[in-house]
Amino acid sequence: MTDYLFKNGHLLTMTGSGVGYMKDGAVAVTNGRITAVGPTAELEKTISAKETIDASNMCIMPGLIDGHMHASYAVVRGVAQDIWNWMQAGLAPYHKYMTPTAFLSGTRSAVLEGIKAGTTLFGDYAWPVDGWGDVFADAGVRAVLTARINSLPAQGMAGLKIGDLYPFDEARGRETIDQATAFIDNWNRAHDGRINVMYGPQGPDMIGLDQLMECKKLAASRGLKVHVHTAQGDREIDQMVKRYGERTPAFLHEIGYLDDQLLAVHLTEATDEETQLIAKSGAKMALCSGSIGIIDGIVPPAHVFRQAGGDVCLGSDQAAGNNCHNIWNEMKLTSLFNKIKYKDPTTLPAWEVLRMGTIEGARALGLDDEIGSLEVGKKADLICIDVTEPNLSPVLDGPIRTLVPNLIFAATGREVLHSMIDGRFVMRDRAILTMDEQAIREDVQLQGEKVAHAVAADPVHKSMKLLEAMEAGNL
Ligand SMILES: [Zn+2]
Repeated sequence: MTDYLFKNGHLLTMTGSGVGYMKDGAVAVTNGRITAVGPTAELEKTISAKETIDASNMCIMPGLIDGHMHASYAVVRGVAQDIWNWMQAGLAPYHKYMTPTAFLSGTRSAVLEGIKAGTTLFGDYAWPVDGWGDVFADAGVRAVLTARINSLPAQGMAGLKIGDLYPFDEARGRETIDQATAFIDNWNRAHDGRINVMYGPQGPDMIGLDQLMECKKLAASRGLKVHVHTAQGDREIDQMVKRYGERTPAFLHEIGYLDDQLLAVHLTEATDEETQLIAKSGAKMALCSGSIGIIDGIVPPAHVFRQAGGDVCLGSDQAAGNNCHNIWNEMKLTSLFNKIKYKDPTTLPAWEVLRMGTIEGARALGLDDEIGSLEVGKKADLICIDVTEPNLSPVLDGPIRTLVPNLIFAATGREVLHSMIDGRFVMRDRAILTMDEQAIREDVQLQGEKVAHAVAADPVHKSMKLLEAMEAGNL
């Protein structure tokens, strides 16, 4: 018997080359999978469900995919924007004092925020501290967890002068590879495939060549991707040129790293030619429009990447300096920034960025057989959006259909009423069913204050650029 029948909704199935719109559509879910999609009148005739959800005045669509995030930094949301060298001059002093408790508190808060904005897949990238995987498992969300690997000194980049070549600590590289591998072997396809994993050499500038190659081999032996920050800012390019005499894309090409195993994040500094080289290799791209706009003032070359045939997923990156984990924000900014960059309003229309947030994102992560569209046989990851909210009204079906443009350019995430992941409701009528929202809100406030107090007591905080704005009374 069918578990759930959603009916009378505006369906965005994300099948075909666009959004796959269906008026007055229905979706049936059984044992965690989609078992029927079609007109309500048709499905109602043949399907009797344990529970029927009337989705009149709602849009039913696949859950949103956040392919690249550092969820833990939600505990220090807002400490590192509006400055140059955000990592060293903003985030690093806080990062230094993020205890595992603070890390988990931020992670939970980011997951809560994402669920409330319609995200169903969380592509988190972090140290595999105890309890990290459990946050996603317990919240009932789908995840792709990348255990961070590098051979930087344990204190990270705090204290290093801008422009100094990072010292590599091979023992540290060994330790992080081993930790990541243990995590990966524990969590790969855990919870009936709901939790997925990748290897995460943090950046080609942050680990020695031998260990970078070892990560690729270890991942390949398990059929996994490598998730690597690639050409992420002038800082990285400067390191690569100083160390290897080459820019990142040429270096990765030469060592055999450019292929469909690679999920390349940011490409902030990649030229159009370098971007095409990476896209044509079969590698995928993660695009973090909001974060890179805020911390670097740059529009990454996703449009060129896609035109070269590459798949791009969206990511919210980090809340220290993107300030939110909201894929509606990323879809809108991606369209808007590229229209402005190319001075062309036809660039990345609403339907294309919606694909990047759903089916194309799934392809970039290698999960499009399972998720990203409403199709029979796929896992039931879907959201229902109230389209009677003033910012989404009226819903006109012709001559111009307004649903998707209004969702992309006007939705905030708060219009998402229900979220189902793996056939199980995680949010219903905006109430979170799998997490204690009140406790998470209180805890992230407490943990955030603890980190801030520790930073205030450390003289290193005097190097933080935002202090000038504080002292001028502007912030
Ligand atoms: Zn990142």
